[in-house]
This record gives sequence, structure tokens and C-alpha cells, in this order.
Amino acid sequence: MYIQNLSVLDETHICPDCDIKMSCCEVPPVHVGDGLGWGSEVMFICLNDECPTFKGGWKKIDVNYGHKGSFRNMQLPGSKELNALMVASKMAFTGSIVDPESMREQNERYQKEKEAVAALDTCLEKNDITPVMTLILDESANPKDRSRAIDLLKSFNDLSCIDPIRNHTFRNTEFEQKCNMVIFVLLKENYQKECPFCAELIKAQAKKCLHCKAEV
Ligand SMILES: [Zn+2]
Ligand SMILES: [Zn+2]
Repeated sequence: MYIQNLSVLDETHICPDCDIKMSCCEVPPVHVGDGLGWGSEVMFICLNDECPTFKGGWKKIDVNYGHKGSFRNMQLPGSKELNALMVASKMAFTGSIVDPESMREQNERYQKEKEAVAALDTCLEKNDITPVMTLILDESANPKDRSRAIDLLKSFNDLSCIDPIRNHTFRNTEFEQKCNMVIFVLLKENYQKECPFCAELIKAQAKKCLHCKAEV
């Protein structure tokens, strides 16, 4: 999840009915019939099961609508206007509580991804491998962009890309194989190989590793 305006995470909303701090939750997907969304990515919901609104809501819904459910108090960011959200169970929204710290981290990652994608077109002429590596090593980045980054990797002819890639755990084995192919070509073109014992780069024609002295 990505939030445009991170400052909403610093907001504190207190439920006017129970004086308990409301939880910052992800906005539920818009119901097709609703037309408009909430105009916000998060909402503050009172998840206190002892809240009078929630406790009394079951009966109200039963009487008025004849089905099982209750209400949770809700406020949108930047507003103290109280809304009543209909919930079908006690569990509703408890799974969508936003953790501000992880939200900030996700935003940071997304920002880096966006910058890297924007830099892809010119990184080769600027000889800046950073955006390429950022995308290759970002498992959450768009696969199309990562694939483009891997295609660019070889043109940099930069052996420093090997260690970060070797130390990365790819969830996508296709990308891993593509990277391995690039590394294979890079090593070959630079007359290098990786020592099978210490993983240092050594001359392709070496019989003994310069670093660990093992016979290769
Ligand atoms: Zn409350
Ligand atoms: Zn070695």
C-alpha cells in the first residue's frame, strides 16, 4: 500500500463516544454501487469492543435492518466529523490496521523504485548503474521494469554487480537465471571467473586461487 500524504499517519483521533484512540486503518475497497470512494487512503476507526456505539449497534441494526451487524465510529484524516461504519463482525477492520513504521518504509521503497524507473532511460549514458541495481534487487518492483534493468545490466560491463546479485534471494527464478546469464557473459568477456571456494574473482586461466590458494 502506498500513501500520498504521509502526515496523516501522525494524526491522533480520539473516539468521542469512548475516549479511546481510534486505529488508523486501510480504507476498504470501494463498493461498486457507492460511486465515490472515501477520498482518502486511510481512515481512523474506533476498534474498542466496549465502545457504546459498537455495543449498542447490534440491537439497532437488528431492529432497523433485521440482520446481524453493528457500527464502528470512524473519522477521516484531517476531519473530526464522526461517521458510522456498518460492520458485519467484531473482526472487521482489525486486519487492516496500518502500522505507521512499515507504511513509511513501504513509501520509501516505492519512492526509490519510482526514481530508479525514471532514471533507467539515461543511466547508461551517465554510467550510473545504481538505478539498474535498485530495480534488480527490489522484489517488490514492477517485473517489467526489473526485466528492463536486467537487460541493461550487461551494457555497464561492471563486475561490481556480481556480489549484490549473488547475495540476493530472488523470489522470481526467471530473473535470477537472467542475471546469472549476464554474469556469465560479463565474466567471460573480462577473462574472469569466480573461485568456487571463496567466491573471489580470479583470472579465467588461473589454476590456483590468488585469494584462498585453493586449486581451481
Ligand atoms: Zn469508541
Ligand atoms: Zn578462492
